[in-house]
Amino acid sequence: MTWEPVIGLEVHVHLKTRTKMFCRCRVGFGAEPNTQTCPVCLAFPGALPVVNRTAVEWTIKLGLALGCDIAEHAVFSRKNYFYFDNPKGYQISQYDLPFCISGKVILPTAEGDRVIGIVRAHLEEDAAKTVHVGGRTGRIRGAEHSIVDFNRGGTPLVEIVTAPDIRSAEEAKRFLQLLRQTIVELGISDAEMEKGTLRVDANVSVREVGSSELRTRTELKNMNSFTFVARGIDAEIARQIAVWESGAEVRQETYDFDATTGALTPHRAKEEADDYRYFPEPDLVPIEPPADLVERLRSELPEQPAARIRRLESELDLERATVLVTGGLDRLWGDAVAAGAEKIAAANVIANTIVGAGLDPAAVSAQELARLVDARERLPRAAFDEAISKLADPGFSAEPYLAQEAVSDESELEPIVARVLEASPGQVDAYRSGKEGLLGFFVGQVLKETGGKANPRVVSELIRERLDS
Ligand SMILES: [Zn+2]
Repeated sequence: MTWEPVIGLEVHVHLKTRTKMFCRCRVGFGAEPNTQTCPVCLAFPGALPVVNRTAVEWTIKLGLALGCDIAEHAVFSRKNYFYFDNPKGYQISQYDLPFCISGKVILPTAEGDRVIGIVRAHLEEDAAKTVHVGGRTGRIRGAEHSIVDFNRGGTPLVEIVTAPDIRSAEEAKRFLQLLRQTIVELGISDAEMEKGTLRVDANVSVREVGSSELRTRTELKNMNSFTFVARGIDAEIARQIAVWESGAEVRQETYDFDATTGALTPHRAKEEADDYRYFPEPDLVPIEPPADLVERLRSELPEQPAARIRRLESELDLERATVLVTGGLDRLWGDAVAAGAEKIAAANVIANTIVGAGLDPAAVSAQELARLVDARERLPRAAFDEAISKLADPGFSAEPYLAQEAVSDESELEPIVARVLEASPGQVDAYRSGKEGLLGFFVGQVLKETGGKANPRVVSELIRERLDS
């Protein structure tokens, strides 16, 4: 039987408001532990919450970007649970009346547009950060003791829940890249997994292709990059298929994915959903977003990344368009092309070299980039790489680098090529008997001999001429 994965995602995003969700403590990453707290977020008796207006507006804005309906009447609810990251004994969240429902995200793929449903997006406060010290896994089981940092407690957090519409680990990764870029462009969060400002849980099940049943699902937690999310999902799909095919049944469980070993270990859930005893938060009134506010926020939405991918695809191809848009690089690409750079070459240089050099695309001069893209085959590799690494420096000029043309003169290069080939008879024989990958080795040797100044394209042609004859 052929199996089909059924995947839904729950994504938590920290909003980068100046202050917390229900108090005026600063929101921040990296401050001394327990320095950004007050009676409200530490739950002193009698302290009362006040809603952060910006957080509400940003949640609505995100909902609109995800194609959601915005509730006319939204309610905060208490989600009751006991744990030491939660001093109130409950988290203020949303339950049956969230701000945003019934949206959809268009995911451009080679097989056409895929539509991923958004069940809801709601606003809540984050719990404090706990660190489990000692023990092997960094988890509470086996730890010697645990410490709590309440700085994070009370940070505005949006939870986005997708429908189980995702059909592969790769699709989950692409969806997350697109969602992240949407969030970043709205200016509401940095959405960085490594800093914990974007967190992803995946619900995974499998079924027979063509069936519409929903079998028992499991939940994957603690995956700290999109690549690990994809790997974790793939591992869980394989595990579930093996369980079903052995005649056993998949049990509803939560797993931690360990990226270093690839292992899935069962995770002890705090409590089941039914035990949260949700009820409307008595210290806050319901919120009814006025229609003119919603329309103003709608009018402020930037063009969607998915639409830009489709637009760029007609000039490049889907893969390059996706890399540029989800990397926030498409504006730089457009400016470089407008400044005269060739489209594909500019896309490749931006996606490979500029990202590799860790440059801020907003600081790069498109004009100078275009000149380098144009000259890339004439410049020695070392000079080109150095120029790229300095592109974001204020006042950068490509001029001094453009003066260092690579050596393309065949009469100058031929004796060096001959010397390199004579020095490696073994590799020459291997190349002639079919190991064509060795071409790169020979080119590298010639570049080394010339201190990186030879034009690799010309060198590679000269070597081919000699070896293929
Ligand atoms: Zn506070």
